Amino acid sequence: MRLAEKITLITGSGSGIGRSTALLFAREGATVIVNDLDAEKGRETVDEIAAAGGKAAFFKADVTNPEQVKAMVDAVVAQFGRIDVLFNNAGVSGVGMLHEVEPEAWDRVMTINIRGVFLPSKYVLPYMMERRSGSIINMSSCIAEIGLAKRASYSATKGAVLSLTKSMQVDYAPYNIRVNALLPGTIMTPFVENYLRTSYDDPEAAIASLKTRQLSGDLGRPDDVANAALFLASDESKFMMGSPLYIDGGVVFGKNA
Ligand code: NAD
Repeated sequence: MRLAEKITLITGSGSGIGRSTALLFAREGATVIVNDLDAEKGRETVDEIAAAGGKAAFFKADVTNPEQVKAMVDAVVAQFGRIDVLFNNAGVSGVGMLHEVEPEAWDRVMTINIRGVFLPSKYVLPYMMERRSGSIINMSSCIAEIGLAKRASYSATKGAVLSLTKSMQVDYAPYNIRVNALLPGTIMTPFVENYLRTSYDDPEAAIASLKTRQLSGDLGRPDDVANAALFLASDESKFMMGSPLYIDGGVVFGKNA
């Protein structure tokens, strides 16, 4: 039980990586606060955890809305006493070369992917500072480190999240709060399936081509990222501070011939 007694809040955990992480954290003894904009999917995650004998509760909130986020955080602390781990996971994709992106679409990606990390952190941090303890995990992407085609708005957000992680770490280290970032490569989730459907005429050919980009020869699975999140959430990673953790099948540091 690597997260025994921990109260963990995971944004966007109604689907994909967030849901896999919620299930894994619960198996490791955590109480999981499942947050999502989509109540049906969020409750499905909670039901799956409960069916497996774990502890979870659903809180609907839009991570871009300060009133909703503050109300959720205050309610979680009132009910469960504290938040030990915050995983800022919720995010959306943004496709297109820069000149093709409409200003409204640009703003939407910025808002969800950056403000959606800022707000939960803003309202959780005072509680963590009071207890002088906590681990925050921010969802960046390997796209923060390398150029990838037609992902201008998305890459800008994930680079911002990586920089923000480092600054947050410096400010909150004196409070014994750790802040690290996850940098996944391509992970098969509804998010990527949607991206493939909307961006390519032949999604199967696109998957085959994406696979050749990985040294692993295959795409990642949500559990690959969940396991990395578990390490950052647990005290096993107590000497990791402000670090990027890559889960990318070798995309950033390797190159296929
Ligand atoms: P997903 O679409 O399967 O899940 C994202 C969840 O976030 C959904 O349940 C959605 O309802 C929720 N959400 C969206 N906007 C929200 C909001 N405003 N408030 C609350 N919840 C909201 O996506 P995923 O692939 O699991 O991605 C999760 C995170 O991982 C994202 O930040 C994404 O950028 C990042 N990521 C994914 C990949 C990948 O290949 N899948 C790679 C690198 C990084």
